[in-house]
Amino acid sequence: MPPSLASLPLAGLALVVFACFAGLTAVSAALGFALERALPERRVFDLPLFPGQLRFELLGNAVFLAVATVTVTLALRLGVVRFGYGGALAGALTFGVMVPGFQVFYWLLHRAMHHRALVRIHRWHHRSQVTTPLTGQSMSVFEALGWMLGYVGLPCLLSQFAPISFWGWAGYLAFNVFGNIVGHANVEPTARQAATRGATWFANPFVFHALHHARWTGHYGFQGAMMDRLLGTEWSDWPALYEQIASGRSLTSLKARGDDQG
Ligand SMILES: [Zn+2]
Ligand SMILES: [Zn+2]
Repeated sequence: MPPSLASLPLAGLALVVFACFAGLTAVSAALGFALERALPERRVFDLPLFPGQLRFELLGNAVFLAVATVTVTLALRLGVVRFGYGGALAGALTFGVMVPGFQVFYWLLHRAMHHRALVRIHRWHHRSQVTTPLTGQSMSVFEALGWMLGYVGLPCLLSQFAPISFWGWAGYLAFNVFGNIVGHANVEPTARQAATRGATWFANPFVFHALHHARWTGHYGFQGAMMDRLLGTEWSDWPALYEQIASGRSLTSLKARGDDQG
């Protein structure tokens, strides 16, 4: 960890951590809403939000930011993640291992939260059936703690084998916060060339997760279709729905199905 952070008193460190998460959240949400405004013909669902949805989601974001600030501050102060020295290569390596690692972790966490025993902690996030950029981090305190297993627990585990790069880890957190927020925007900015079966192993069009909110089941992964494809939880009609949205016809029902599913 940079010496300037290590020398801060606990409250100062917490303030820096909060400022990073809150600042990135604000910038990402602004970009997500700007995307929705810039591409009205690419709306995923042409349906209204539930009354008070944005206020409800803001509250969820406050919960998430509080949990993230406390967890990351304590993790840094207690030194639970072993950071090594190293430059750009170590940073790139840490980032390159953590990002796909999170995809596997998140699919498992998310699938577990849809089990009867845990579903209560996930209902807050699913209150939003039509999503907004604020939906991404709108969740219960217990779900936020689950995310912390990915943001802090996974790097902690990895660093037991080899020290990881502080900046690689910070980049991984920023990438996830940004992707989670912008990726919940109710818009489909993905170009056709990037919405192919090959490309979606790694990066999904936005409609992919939008369908999870609309349908409740399937599509437990977020960033890419890899885990859902390998484990049989991918909806087969999303390409048809993507095509419909990309040709300027938004979905007008949460029950919308692609051609192959009638
Ligand atoms: Zn879910
Ligand atoms: Zn979601």
